[in-house]
Amino acid sequence: MIEHEKIYIDGKWVGASGSARIVVVDPSTEQEIGRFRSSSVEDVDSAVTAAKAAFASWSTTTPVERAAFLADAAAQLNARLAEIGTLIARDVGMPLPLSMMIQAGLPARVMDSYAKLTPVFDWESEVGNSLIIREPAGVVGAITPWNYPLHQLVAKTAAALAAGCTVVAKPSEVAPLSAYVLAEIFDAVGLPAGVFNLVAGDLTIGQALVEHPGVDVVSFTGSARAGTDIASRAAQRLARVTLELGGKSANIMLDDAPIAESVDAAVTKCFLNSGQTCTALTRLVVPRSILSQVEEAAVASAKRFVLGEPTNPATRLGPVVSETQRERVRAYIRGAIADGTRLLCGGSDTPAETPVGFFVAPTVFSDVDNASKIAQEEVFGPVLCIIAYDSEEQAIAIANDSTYGLSGGVMSRDTDRAIAVARRIKTGQVGINNGAFNPEAPFGGVKKSGYGRELGAEGLHEYLAIKAIHR
Ligand code: NAD
Repeated sequence: MIEHEKIYIDGKWVGASGSARIVVVDPSTEQEIGRFRSSSVEDVDSAVTAAKAAFASWSTTTPVERAAFLADAAAQLNARLAEIGTLIARDVGMPLPLSMMIQAGLPARVMDSYAKLTPVFDWESEVGNSLIIREPAGVVGAITPWNYPLHQLVAKTAAALAAGCTVVAKPSEVAPLSAYVLAEIFDAVGLPAGVFNLVAGDLTIGQALVEHPGVDVVSFTGSARAGTDIASRAAQRLARVTLELGGKSANIMLDDAPIAESVDAAVTKCFLNSGQTCTALTRLVVPRSILSQVEEAAVASAKRFVLGEPTNPATRLGPVVSETQRERVRAYIRGAIADGTRLLCGGSDTPAETPVGFFVAPTVFSDVDNASKIAQEEVFGPVLCIIAYDSEEQAIAIANDSTYGLSGGVMSRDTDRAIAVARRIKTGQVGINNGAFNPEAPFGGVKKSGYGRELGAEGLHEYLAIKAIHR
């Protein structure tokens, strides 16, 4: 049992002063694996005060000095990879090999990418008679969700620290355990007191951070509902906000794509982390002429997603993160069935092989109406919608007929043709034939998927203020 009574403020572990103790549950066993004490609004104030004080000197360090801390933190993340991968596999429910690679490995890569970028970043430039200076924006409030808990925290924190900002982090109350490890790592590498601070708790603590006048930039990842609330609260004091809010992304299969291989990759992209991935390609848009072959291939692929505990080597699909999440996903599945959507496999019943744990069977719907709820709303579960099209124009129109615009995919034997289609999708990123995620490329969305970018040089810009000096 993991217990956290303390939070990390001003370089010290101090007792959290909230009254609530929040329970952390392993979603594959439904057993309590930890608990932590919530912070209070006063704790948030102490953390922001510490971050503000630390900003005075941290903001004047050189990029090379900051990069050295980030490189040390990346080394620590790598040294603790197995521990972190196992911890998040239990906290979130992701199969262990994937958790090791993505949940633990990706944050280490992102931290390292900022260690390398910081010394060579374009901190100053000239235009005509002006010197353009990029300065740290101030204190950053980082609020993160549960689906990739450490990656989301590191994506914000590494960029903010690289920029010369200081940070107060508020991780998700659903999967908070790895955030404490990150604080331990910053402590171990000797990051100056107050540069990184950790508070804990639910949305009330998040709101206190958003509303705190000492927070200059709010960086949020999570639901559109919370993002809307955060943006409107921050607007009251005109604080800068970046929002990463999920999606309902389309994966377009062009008529020359190899069927079995493309469909298998598409199903895999959709079901990653039990579908709890903001970039999940949840709408598979396919030529009507091959719909039945696609359906057959999709069912065959879905059946290979063996449900089970994250540590069982046979497992390809873990549970969803919580009972609340399972009920949300089940309600979407039931709703789609009630609307007459054709269910190919899966469904809302408890899978026979996993009577315990918050499991949802890999579910595929076909012939889905793109205007329907299941095709428009973010389900955040292992649910794929197959949507048929009659022309390439219509495929693009279907992809763009979404209030979201985070991710997308195009599959074709002809890469140039796929890129031409990708250019027309209104979204933040597109994978061609399942092109690999690149942690150095800018990440973010358009439309209801939010604004601002994380990762790479663009991610660093989010934490900078620009000054022009004319001479
Ligand atoms: P959420 O958006 O409610 O919470 C995310 C984080 O924000 C948590 O740390 C939470 O405590 C905090 N928070 C929530 N409301 C806030 C507010 N008004 N002000 C300040 N902080 C606030 O996400 P959730 O409840 O964990 O999940 C709900 C749904 O959100 C999911 O079903 C899924 O559709 C979506 N979601 C999307 C992402 C993503 O990466 N885009 C991640 C997690 C969840």
